[in-house]
Amino acid sequence: MSFPHVTIEGYPRVGANRELKKALEAYWAGKIDEAAFTSTAHSLRIDTYRRLRDLGLTEDYAIPADVAYYDQVLETALTVGVLQAGTLDEEFTLCRGNADTAPLEMTKWFDTNYHYLVPEVADQAFEPNPERILTIVREAADADVKVRPFLVGPVTLLALAKGENPLARLDELVDAYAAVLAALAADGVEWVQVAEPALVADLVPADAELAALAGTAWTKLLNVDNRPNVLITTPYGSLREGLKALADAQPEALHVSLAPSVLAEDPTYVDRVLEAVHPETTLVAGLIDGHNVWAANLRERAEILDKLQAGHPDVAVSTSVSLLHVPHTVTAESNIPVDVAGWLAFADEKITEAVALANRDEDAFARADRAVRTRAESERTRNAEVAARVAKLPEGQVQREPQFEGRKEAQAELGLPKLPTTTIGSFPQTQEIRKARADHRAGTITDAQYTEAMKNEVAEVVKLQEDLGLDVLVHGEPERNDMVQYFSEQMDGFISTDNGWVQSYGSRCVRPPIVIGDVSRPEAMTVEWAKYAQSLTDKPVKGMLTGPVTILAWSFKRDDVPVSVSADQIALALADEVADLEEAGIDIIQIDEPALRELLPLRKDARPEYLDWSIRSFRLVAVDAEPTTQIHTHLCYSEFGEIIDAVAALDADVTSIEAARSKMELLTDLNEGFHSDIGPGVWDIHSPRVPSVDELTELLTAALKHVPAERLWVNPDCGLKTRGYAETNESLKNLVEARDRVVASL
Ligand code: GLN
Ligand code: ZN
Repeated sequence: MSFPHVTIEGYPRVGANRELKKALEAYWAGKIDEAAFTSTAHSLRIDTYRRLRDLGLTEDYAIPADVAYYDQVLETALTVGVLQAGTLDEEFTLCRGNADTAPLEMTKWFDTNYHYLVPEVADQAFEPNPERILTIVREAADADVKVRPFLVGPVTLLALAKGENPLARLDELVDAYAAVLAALAADGVEWVQVAEPALVADLVPADAELAALAGTAWTKLLNVDNRPNVLITTPYGSLREGLKALADAQPEALHVSLAPSVLAEDPTYVDRVLEAVHPETTLVAGLIDGHNVWAANLRERAEILDKLQAGHPDVAVSTSVSLLHVPHTVTAESNIPVDVAGWLAFADEKITEAVALANRDEDAFARADRAVRTRAESERTRNAEVAARVAKLPEGQVQREPQFEGRKEAQAELGLPKLPTTTIGSFPQTQEIRKARADHRAGTITDAQYTEAMKNEVAEVVKLQEDLGLDVLVHGEPERNDMVQYFSEQMDGFISTDNGWVQSYGSRCVRPPIVIGDVSRPEAMTVEWAKYAQSLTDKPVKGMLTGPVTILAWSFKRDDVPVSVSADQIALALADEVADLEEAGIDIIQIDEPALRELLPLRKDARPEYLDWSIRSFRLVAVDAEPTTQIHTHLCYSEFGEIIDAVAALDADVTSIEAARSKMELLTDLNEGFHSDIGPGVWDIHSPRVPSVDELTELLTAALKHVPAERLWVNPDCGLKTRGYAETNESLKNLVEARDRVVASL
């Protein structure tokens, strides 16, 4: 049967009211049993299919069944038998670990904020388990919907897996996929979707080699007799070498991502696609951008569709990527100004757009024209003062003066001891803190009561740090729930949503703010807290800011200006904050950039430009700081070895960086170019485990092999907000003791 005219690459799984998240957490907490859990998940799936049908995905196989309890990579790994889990609890142990077993590693999915579980491939046998996917197909059929089963593709699965050389087992894995496809065919399934995004990114191995592997694997898989029609999807970017490899394997349908941002980076992509895709293959055009929250310019999209249809006999309309990365629906928002709401499209609205585009719905085109026009003309998106200030900035890189060595001398007046101890910023967020914040939001306590509660908390945290003997103190960040949310709420140019939840991993959802226009800071954002904490102690208190790159990485970005423009604007707002903190007597200021690695483009040739503007925006925050002001930065969540030169280029005075889990492996990547002081994390704060003095001493001794004592700091891997006080007290006590031991032996 032919491919549907309109479809999507994928859809959010957690549910419009986070039904799956709640069910998962209830099950893990033992509040509901397995039967109740699976029945909730089942109802959610069926309800979702019905809603998608109502939104216009009415044709058979238009709806992808990209369902999973926790993660789609895990789901595929279990289906094709790369991993095994006999029971639901075994499956969740892979996700979350238990007392005896560590969970699978988790890392970011392409250039999104979604995290997948990383399968390990050693010499295990691949024993496919098609029942998992058949159950999904059958339950949908019982509800009268023909869904399109979804698998992550064999090349992507192995390219993203951990192990000696997972791709060496590609041929065997193809046999496992063939077995799953055969089982689907036997059940009467006519279309299956297999996602191969690995081919749009520069991974290891290089593009050409990966493309060759994909060509061989897919030619073999598509040559088995007994299988459904196959749609291969390639979300997140444009194919290069992989385009011909996949096209020549001749799947029945091939999806390509043609979002405006992809075409801006790769202007010849449409032509290359038209040339490569065989006439017998349905070209599934990912024209609706699934990666941002903006309403599409349908008329401009239709022009590309015209061109595709003129050059190819069979074209279907789709989204560029799964809608997993945007919230469910704008209609769930009651606090977004009406004019702004019209500019937005979340998952459901994007489906409506795809349907309208496929049907050439003139009314929808006229509405889209209006949205595009009012957004371009709106005063909300533009701030003349900000524009003027940004226009005055020098072009290219900026340099703080004096350079590092000169500042190091000036900062000697801080009088810090050898191997100074500090923390990354947040202290445990207790029940009371969360309650006070919730009560404040709900209006059941006054501003004054709230401030009082937070001040008490700050005072306790300062006292605790003094008692522990830490050298550089923090105020503890009790007033911040999510740091990006905290800053975005205080800056003009952002809006926040009430229900804009997006899955980050497993049951974890975030509500990213939306940058809608030029960004500015009406007033100081953090100064009162820092000043208060500093008033309580003679030790230095670190001011605590989130950097421009991280604020942008964890927000939905504008699509009407380059990201670098928003980065410069946020940087200026933060630079004003730095000046205000200095004015208030804060001599040490940390600018967190944990997301620096996250925004790194998927293609190598796009990376230098990204690193240029991201480093510049960080430097802009600190460029006018006094030489005596010690600027710290903090990075975590990823491995930074690959971009260590960029980390050095931030030109911070002190860099604290996650390192405990990899046993300080990062330090081997340091070179002469890395001049800043460095605090490689010695305490892995991701679990309640308390590191012993011996263990900490060992890590510090190891660090001293790579970093001279004059440049070494002692700190945990990251903030402590998810920790409890029991382990925090003990671990920090051990940390100070280990430092004392190491210093005594110097
Ligand atoms: N200062 C922040 C904290 O300690 C840093 C958070 C982060 O790196 N993710 O919570
Ligand atoms: Zn961190």
